[in-house]
Amino acid sequence: MRRENYFNKSPGRKHLFSPGTFSAQRYIMNDFKVTPWEVTGDIDYDELIVRFGTKKIDDALMERLAGYGPVHLLLRRGIVYSQRDMEWILNEYDKGNKFFLYTGRGPSGNIHLGHLMPWIFTKYIQDTFGANLYFQMTDDEKFLFNDSLQLKDTNRLAYENALDVIALGFDVKKTKIVVDTECIDTLYPMALEVAKRVTFSTTKAVFGFENSNNIGEIFYTSIQAAPAFMEKILYDKATPCLIPCGIDQDPHFRITRDVAAMMGLPKPALLHTKMFPGLTGGDKMSSSVPGSTIYTTDSPKEVKKKIGNAFTGGAVTVEEQRKNGGKPEVCAVYKYNFFLFESNDEVLADLADRCRKGEVLCGECKKALTEKLVKFLEGHQERREKAKDQIHDFMLHENL
Ligand code: SF4
Repeated sequence: MRRENYFNKSPGRKHLFSPGTFSAQRYIMNDFKVTPWEVTGDIDYDELIVRFGTKKIDDALMERLAGYGPVHLLLRRGIVYSQRDMEWILNEYDKGNKFFLYTGRGPSGNIHLGHLMPWIFTKYIQDTFGANLYFQMTDDEKFLFNDSLQLKDTNRLAYENALDVIALGFDVKKTKIVVDTECIDTLYPMALEVAKRVTFSTTKAVFGFENSNNIGEIFYTSIQAAPAFMEKILYDKATPCLIPCGIDQDPHFRITRDVAAMMGLPKPALLHTKMFPGLTGGDKMSSSVPGSTIYTTDSPKEVKKKIGNAFTGGAVTVEEQRKNGGKPEVCAVYKYNFFLFESNDEVLADLADRCRKGEVLCGECKKALTEKLVKFLEGHQERREKAKDQIHDFMLHENL
């Protein structure tokens, strides 16, 4: 199966670091930086695969995934593009050894579309494979790593953000939300097993920690590792685990995989997504860049304003655009369609074609995208309201 590859940067840059010597600090020296806490610069996703030592999702794996059901557009379009041990976990599944899913959220603010993307994909995997999902809310992490947030803030946000997770339609019988500070008695023994096997020098090498980091930050990766062994914790079963997540989270799970081997437990497999683009032209939608982000709680007026100000690949004048065409490959409006909001591949290809020929103008495109987003958000906001009545059924600590 052939996949579209519009946004992969060309390979061939010199690979400065071997996969085994990844260091967040060293990334600052290059043109982009990807850590669990910071993503900046013009990301070369192919180079990131080499740096992190992951595997590109190839045609053979795509063919195999197509055998389990319709292939999600995020896979078809190469947005879910990298993996660890997917062949192994599918072999286990084929033998009748089902896997569970684990993903999560650091609750530091409201949810935007970039957060929803890997969760939408996670729901697709849950539906396709009938997998249990453990969704970790890392209120402890956001307290430790963010000077402006108190624990009561991150805990409140965990519940706010959980409404967005539930609104996506996860199966309540197969989904449990794990708020770290409230489930710590469940997580802590496993976190200790992990912590005992991770040295300070490893966390320094992987995350770039220094003497000025607080000791909670240094310990924290053990808490993020624990749910990868959730069915060992809850049922004493060594169930395989699959983690769909943004590629920026991979460093945590490299440590988790190393520790799993030391504990004689299955290494979690991973599926990595690229970053959801910002409206202002960056590689990642970021809450810290005003106007680059569409929140799930935005009103139609706010959406219209943000899309109206979005970075496009259009020309300065209408005449120029009619004559020379636009550049969909750099256009945030086109990228939004590409990533989530135009599921029909032919319609998408036609949009790119008409843009390049100057047959469509940015104003029309922005209007059409605004209408799609408003419709999507209206449905999401309605389900988010209903989620308030369901939230307790999803919480792990209330159902143990
Ligand atoms: Fe982007 Fe549409 Fe303008 Fe082309 S016409 S640059 S796709 S907004």
